[in-house]
Amino acid sequence: FASTMQEFPLTVPAILRHGARVYGGSECVTWTGGEPRRASYRQVAENAERLAAALTRLGVGAGDRVATFSWNNQEHLEAYFAVPGMGAVLHTLNIRLFPDQLAHIIGHAEDRFILVDDTLVPLLARVADRLPTVEAFIVVGDGDASALGDARVLRYHELLAAEEPGFAWPELDERAAASMCYTSGTTGDPKGVVYSHRSTFLHAMVAISASLMGLTETDRVLTIVPMFHVNAWGLPYAAFLSGATLHMPGPFLQPEHLTRFIAAERSTLSSAVPTIWSAILNYGADHELDLSSLRAGTSGGAAAPRALLERFEAEYGLRIIQGWGMTETSPLGGMAFPPPGVEPGTTEDVDWRLKSGRVAAGVEMRIVDAAGEELPWDGESVGEIEVRGPWITGSYHRDPAPEKFHDGWLRTGDIGTIDDRGFFQITDRAKDVIKSGGEWISSVELENHLVSHPAVLEAAVIGIPDPRWDERPLAFVVLRDGASASAAELAGFLSGKVARWQVPENWAFVEEIPKTTVGKFDKKPLRARYRADEVK
Ligand code: ADP
Repeated sequence: FASTMQEFPLTVPAILRHGARVYGGSECVTWTGGEPRRASYRQVAENAERLAAALTRLGVGAGDRVATFSWNNQEHLEAYFAVPGMGAVLHTLNIRLFPDQLAHIIGHAEDRFILVDDTLVPLLARVADRLPTVEAFIVVGDGDASALGDARVLRYHELLAAEEPGFAWPELDERAAASMCYTSGTTGDPKGVVYSHRSTFLHAMVAISASLMGLTETDRVLTIVPMFHVNAWGLPYAAFLSGATLHMPGPFLQPEHLTRFIAAERSTLSSAVPTIWSAILNYGADHELDLSSLRAGTSGGAAAPRALLERFEAEYGLRIIQGWGMTETSPLGGMAFPPPGVEPGTTEDVDWRLKSGRVAAGVEMRIVDAAGEELPWDGESVGEIEVRGPWITGSYHRDPAPEKFHDGWLRTGDIGTIDDRGFFQITDRAKDVIKSGGEWISSVELENHLVSHPAVLEAAVIGIPDPRWDERPLAFVVLRDGASASAAELAGFLSGKVARWQVPENWAFVEEIPKTTVGKFDKKPLRARYRADEVK
């Protein structure tokens, strides 16, 4: 029995058309350090049409990869629409990758062109002679680009000036590839995830819903999370569907600039990893901040500590809401809005917001034990989280990686619990959890308790081999300027908060915790330091 509904393809051009027509006056505001640059969504759409025309003239066809090596800015947004819209595939490159990884990823994706901000030319130039698939670099801005080799340099603004708006977006298959992103490689080698038009559209629809970002035309969203880190968590497309104005910080990711941007342009929402949120808090300790325009801040990518949520609430009246996701999940898998009846600002409210999320509509989640058996949704049973759904990857680019899938479900590598209402809590990554005497110790839980100690600025805990217990925790601690605390004192502090056998007996006081390219604590160098005998 046939439905009578139209077979309407869910595509990136459909998102663009909606934003440009219905919310043509909403803006993309790019921070410059001085007077911000402004472009209406109508102008962004026209430039996207010009860019698509220029790329067509350069010979870019359906399925060809066009990469970006860019900050969050207006031109990057234009590429977000132009490249998928013309049927090509947008590959957002992480500008902080080591040269070898960068060259590998560009070759692996077979990128034909790379759009690059002039300020980032020196970083890309380090690998320019190792990119056989790349025909030309399209430089945004008029800074010197000779380091890329003049023969292969084109200028973004010249290309656009030579074209007229009015590009006829082709009819696209909604299942075709729209964009791709490599995992940031916190626990392993980067793997390529390829999003479809359909997954992008559906993800943007759910992103604007009230159970996730709740975006409307009255919002002004500061995208601190980079556009190369899982599509800035979907915010650019979500903004065009909802009419929310986009605030793009460019290279100005220091707390001083971010907070000036928020105050000057009255951002209503912002998204960042916990290390950025805590940098803002620390900056606020001796600067006057006006965060009053923010209705909420979203945090994801790593667990946000309780102290972070409490201090934002107490000092700025700002609610930080956690979300969970990964490159493989587009990324939104859920957000942790407390259930009805919970009074905002109370301890109970914070308890709920410390959950990693509540399963998003469209995503199915389960937890399984080591044997792959499903565990109950009782909020206590701990297992690996598995997900499936229309914006969850089913494989990797040129790498089927069967070990990452289980009967059609993606194995997330995250360990946690889920309760009877779908609130889930990531207690650790499978690779970070500390296995001590047959029991698990959550490194994340220890870290979160440690940073609630007034002398502690940052903490990261790893498991180290132990002849008796298999593994025991080693805590790396960064103390606040001028503060002091001994290992014995911190151990005593933890004793009141976790089971005695979970308290680390190994401590290392360090200058800083290394961060990954997207600002998460990087435990690989810490493990290497331990192995190299640099810490005892
Ligand atoms: P990488 O795995 O290289 O860090 P991603 O940026 O895709 O790359 O990170 C996804 C991972 O980030 C998740 O698998 C999870 O471990 C972690 N993560 C994301 N959000 C949260 C959260 N709210 N709480 C705890 N961990 C999180």
